[in-house]
Amino acid sequence: MSAQTFEFQTETSRLLELMIHSLYSNRDVFLRELVSNASDALDKRRFESVTNRALQTEDELSVRLDVEKEARTLTISDNGIGMTHDEVVANIGTIAKSGTKEFTELLKNKDKLADSPELIGQFGVGFYSSFLVADKVTLITRKAGENGATKWESTGTGSYEISESERDTAGTSIILTLKPADAEDGLQDYTDAWVVESLVRKYSDFVSYPIKMEKEIPAAGEDEKATTEDATLNSQKAIWTRSASDVSEDDYNEFYKHISRDWVDPLKRISTSIEGTIEAKALLFLPKKAPFDLYHRDMSKRGVQLYVKRVFIMDDCEELLPSYLRFVKGVVDSEDLPLNVSREVLQQNRQVRAIQKHLVKKIVDAVVTMRRNDWDDYQAFWGEFGPAIKEGLLMGPERNEKLLEAVIAESTADDTKRRSLEDYVADMPEEREEIYYLSGTSIDALRKSPHLEGFKAKGIEVLLFNDAVDEIWLQQPLTYKDKKFVSASRGEVNLEGEDKEEDEKKDEERKTELSDLLISLGSKLQDEIKEVRLSKRLTDSAACLITDSGDLSPQMEQIMRASGQAMPETKRILEVNGAHPVIKALESLYKVDAEDPKIASYAQLLHGQALLAEGGQLSDPAAFAGLVADLMVSAASA
Ligand code: ADP
Repeated sequence: MSAQTFEFQTETSRLLELMIHSLYSNRDVFLRELVSNASDALDKRRFESVTNRALQTEDELSVRLDVEKEARTLTISDNGIGMTHDEVVANIGTIAKSGTKEFTELLKNKDKLADSPELIGQFGVGFYSSFLVADKVTLITRKAGENGATKWESTGTGSYEISESERDTAGTSIILTLKPADAEDGLQDYTDAWVVESLVRKYSDFVSYPIKMEKEIPAAGEDEKATTEDATLNSQKAIWTRSASDVSEDDYNEFYKHISRDWVDPLKRISTSIEGTIEAKALLFLPKKAPFDLYHRDMSKRGVQLYVKRVFIMDDCEELLPSYLRFVKGVVDSEDLPLNVSREVLQQNRQVRAIQKHLVKKIVDAVVTMRRNDWDDYQAFWGEFGPAIKEGLLMGPERNEKLLEAVIAESTADDTKRRSLEDYVADMPEEREEIYYLSGTSIDALRKSPHLEGFKAKGIEVLLFNDAVDEIWLQQPLTYKDKKFVSASRGEVNLEGEDKEEDEKKDEERKTELSDLLISLGSKLQDEIKEVRLSKRLTDSAACLITDSGDLSPQMEQIMRASGQAMPETKRILEVNGAHPVIKALESLYKVDAEDPKIASYAQLLHGQALLAEGGQLSDPAAFAGLVADLMVSAASA
């Protein structure tokens, strides 16, 4: 087969262009990316050869680096799993996530990219970083267990060529024909063995396979010649087995970047060991940023790798962490599991469950400690991962008390920063039994909600929640420090203050005065609502809609419908403010003529504006507009 030429996907060309512009000060990372790819390929070969003898090799699994000064090439080779022709086409000519909305946004947003070039790292573009330092990239690969080899070559400008090739053994070599060294442009001389060695030490020291390079041994005496020797450049030490005092923060950070493929340092590191009947060590990291697809990707993805006695077993080990902690990255190394452990075994295994329990506790403890001690970090963390943590509140009651310690939310008590439940309870009168909250889709709209008027007037704090998951976890009968969660837009609320008896007496009187009007309004609105009641929570607005205790909120109904469940419409309750001029005017109208047809129109207007005030949608906007127009005409001509 002769060479075939392929065009890059348009996005790939754009990305290459942008990457070269935005990462020029950080070109050295190409080596880390290529060594990480090689190390992954070696992991795959080692793992697959446990069950497939044909993939075994006598040779030591390793990464080799070779430099040719004259030809200006640096070659990175591995004897890992290799790729077939089709895999080269699928993996190397395309960018996996190129079709996604996020990717298109990224490409459009040049300025954002210039500020944080590391965003590129999220899209699995490691291989393309070769073009940061090379004018031409040649990849020759042979899949383990097969004979033929495939060559891929490109100058990174629009197209690439694929042809048949030869390779003595299985594995992959990437030959970089380097751009001229240019210190000002961030290009070191990557044919200099010392430069290469220092980059390996810096970025890839802990890679568990030897990274080898030929090194010159200077002549021992005048009559002798200089010789060369294969040297291993990395210490290969499993970083999680070393005592934290021997490992620098930089080394931990580089290790994190190696396993997570993130391009920025992690936010927090969590090291833990389990001792006793089960033995395992874990080195986990909380990233700074959520991957763009954290909330809509395959929920079985996890960020934790499983090792058994320092041997890599698998990536994304979903048995080690519950799905809500899928953003945690790291390594777990077990002393007890068998090396040929399978997914089925992991699912049944009691030790694995015990490890998971331990890890969850450690992670949640670390999160809560961060909330108490590092408020700034925590705000940033919560913005990225808060919704995931709250998913944990749907996983059964076992961890709820602890997870609630982690929850922070916007609050009516402070419009500049979020508040924790701990703050909320500490600042409320001891005898009060409720934690009040309001949930919806936008914090701004929630802050202006009529439901909050009575709470504001009495100085009662209400927490505001607007993540999609909030609507769901708040439906559960949860308590925090024995206080129960109560929605400010649900059922009866108890807003009585010190002059409780006085308030109650006044309420009762007003209720009696208005009772006939309320019944009449209710009958006019019987298709829309359950009942019209006198409100205790309104001070400024004339009316608001509330959900009866025990009923599903409109947002929850929407979620259930979106998930394909047939849901009957739940009717809500219209609460009216007995002190409001609109209600007083209606009261007089009703007294003069209980059958006045205007009462029916006003009932519709009252209901419509209550719905609009909470950001809801009118079922018949044209009819509502007609009523408003009539009202304007009669007011203007009065
Ligand atoms: P990522 O590694 O984030 O998926 P890359 O662009 O670095 O993105 O690599 C794309 C894919 O190409 C990898 O997922 C892997 O399947 C394949 N690949 C890259 N380098 C090698 C290698 N040295 N050996 C085998 N496969 C490789």
